Amino acid sequence: MPSAVVWQLLSVRIFSHWPYWPNILRTSTSHQEGCRREWAVSVTQFTGGYDAQVQKAHLVRLDWQRPENGAPAVMAEITGSDFSIDVDLVLLAMGFVHVEHSRLLEDLGVSLDQRGNILTDNNCQTTADGIFAAGDAQTGASLVVGSINQGRLAAQAIDRYLK
Ligand SMILES: Cc1cc2nc3c(=O)[nH]c(=O)nc-3n(C[C@H](O)[C@H](O)[C@H](O)COP(=O)(O)OP(=O)(O)OC[C@H]3O[C@@H](n4cnc5c(N)ncnc54)[C@H](O)[C@@H]3O)c2cc1C
Repeated sequence: MPSAVVWQLLSVRIFSHWPYWPNILRTSTSHQEGCRREWAVSVTQFTGGYDAQVQKAHLVRLDWQRPENGAPAVMAEITGSDFSIDVDLVLLAMGFVHVEHSRLLEDLGVSLDQRGNILTDNNCQTTADGIFAAGDAQTGASLVVGSINQGRLAAQAIDRYLK
């Protein structure tokens, strides 16, 4: 066991928008024990010793740019900003990632969109004939109300398909 634990909390985001929680900088007693926080950084790789024990996290700083037209923010790595930190344990807490890429999706032969969710047209129809997708699997992690609405749209589309 190390005699001192230094928490390094890393985040790729520097701002948020609906439906994400607004970013609020909170400092708890746990942080005060010795935490270093870094924002707008991305992990490029982990390296370790021959025994497969992770030893270093390699990172790069990010520049987030918000397009004027309201399109999703664009993340760019800042050239020459690479750095690394010593680590002996890495915990990944990456919420709001895409649908699980399971054998089911593979066997159904559905295509995925750029964010790794199930690609559909406006009628919730996937690229595999007769296979429909709705809710988080199609939109990415979102809200219950959105999923209910999507489910209704999918049900109507399936009804039309069957007729
Ligand atoms: C911690 C947490 C807190 C949240 N809090 C809120 C909140 O306060 N308000 C809000 O509006 N939203 C909240 N959400 C989001 C909300 O839960 C989701 O947007 C919503 O549940 C998505 O509904 P869904 O039907 O698309 O997917 P899900 O609810 O995920 O349903 C998918 C279902 O498919 C099943 N399944 C998966 N694979 C298979 C398979 N191979 N075969 C058969 N079944 C399968 C799963 O077991 C699951 O029951 C929260 C989400 C999380 C994770």
